[in-house]
Amino acid sequence: MINLFIGIDDTDSPNKYCTTYIATLLLETLRENGYTLDLPKLIRMNPAVKYKTRGNGGISLRILDNLSSKDKEEIKNITIKLVEKYSDFDCDNTNPGIVFIDEEKYKEHKEELQQYYKKVLYDIVDIDFAERFISKIGGQFIKYKLGRGIIGALGAVSSTPPYTYELLTYRKKEMWGKKRNIDEKSVIEMDKSTFPYTYDNYDYENEKVLITPNTPCPVLYGIRGINKEVLLKAKEMIKGETPEKYTIFKTNQGTDVHLRNMKIKEIYPNTGVIVYGKVIKNPKNIEGGHVLFTISDETGEIGCIAYEPTKRFRDIVRELIIGDYVAVYGTVREYPLEINIEKIKILKLAKKYIKDKKCPNCGGTLKSKGKKLGYKCKKCKIIIPYENIKKIEIERQIKIGFYEVPGSARRHLSKPIQIIDFNLLENDS
Ligand code: ATP
Repeated sequence: MINLFIGIDDTDSPNKYCTTYIATLLLETLRENGYTLDLPKLIRMNPAVKYKTRGNGGISLRILDNLSSKDKEEIKNITIKLVEKYSDFDCDNTNPGIVFIDEEKYKEHKEELQQYYKKVLYDIVDIDFAERFISKIGGQFIKYKLGRGIIGALGAVSSTPPYTYELLTYRKKEMWGKKRNIDEKSVIEMDKSTFPYTYDNYDYENEKVLITPNTPCPVLYGIRGINKEVLLKAKEMIKGETPEKYTIFKTNQGTDVHLRNMKIKEIYPNTGVIVYGKVIKNPKNIEGGHVLFTISDETGEIGCIAYEPTKRFRDIVRELIIGDYVAVYGTVREYPLEINIEKIKILKLAKKYIKDKKCPNCGGTLKSKGKKLGYKCKKCKIIIPYENIKKIEIERQIKIGFYEVPGSARRHLSKPIQIIDFNLLENDS
């Protein structure tokens, strides 16, 4: 069998097009020409990459037929034509790349490809590295402008399970750039009736539809989930503008594959981590509406930050106190080196106390006169030293368990708690 893998990335801009649209047209054209294809893949890579347009995603297709050299030439020509037609070459930040790899080369270098997948998820890769890698394993690449897209094109080809799915619908050309008309109520109904098999359809906290993009791209909406059949049903429930076509992609969205367990000492910027540690500095509000606290493990300490767009998630974070034991999930920013929290697991809650302000002598109210002077009763004027004030344990306002940012602030790769709670990725292949 001589199958072929195709990877494509970095074709669109904030103003125009979408790499998944090229994948859909390519799939359609190749099928029309008699080829058989696997489900296309939409693979997200390191979310800390600064060149990304939106969610740092690349696409990959796999042709399953026994291909002759002539077939391969035909497939490559069709791919090149579509990429050239639907890339926004005018945008400085758009640097398309295409990668072709034969099945036999893919199999021969499977382990290296798996390592590349990890690298493109965890680290910042440079174009030369990707270029050398593709040449070394006997693949072929095509670069336009800087050709940065080959990094993600290879990343998409190299991906391994776990996968979820996204059903993407596309608009008729005459609708591109116009306001999307999707009935909000139908999205809420779809969300409720397909739970827990679809996710991030609607943000109830911010009353916002999440399935429609905000750019003038060809996508009408995308429904994310873990079951293809449910996604098809979900599509039927959405009312409003009628899509022209749709494609179901296999994707690493909602899987947390960009995160790995790390000790604080090992942490470096622009990577995804899960860190277990004890809260050593209480949360504080900082400029911009963000909330910052510090955790430590046996190797060091690091700040963890819940950004303003995470809205009510910050209220959970504000309830943490020194001594709590947590696992922080997130990506690491560079200056200062801090974890941008995507999710938090509270594992152990410290006891929280308040000072008993009732006078032990007369029952009046004690008033603080500062650490040195202690407390003085307003009524009987007795003075009680600071360290002798009784403490009363109070109930904590948070419970042990997982807490996550709202859908509108979630990264594509972050695994929603509903997937964790219902164990929905267990049997994925
Ligand atoms: P699109 O909707 O086009 O997929 P995007 O948000 O995915 O938009 P791209 O336009 O694809 O962004 O830009 C991301 C760029 O970063 C691509 O050129 C991709 O090849 C590259 N890239 C992906 N992962 C990495 C990585 N780990 N290190 C460095 N560059 C990367």
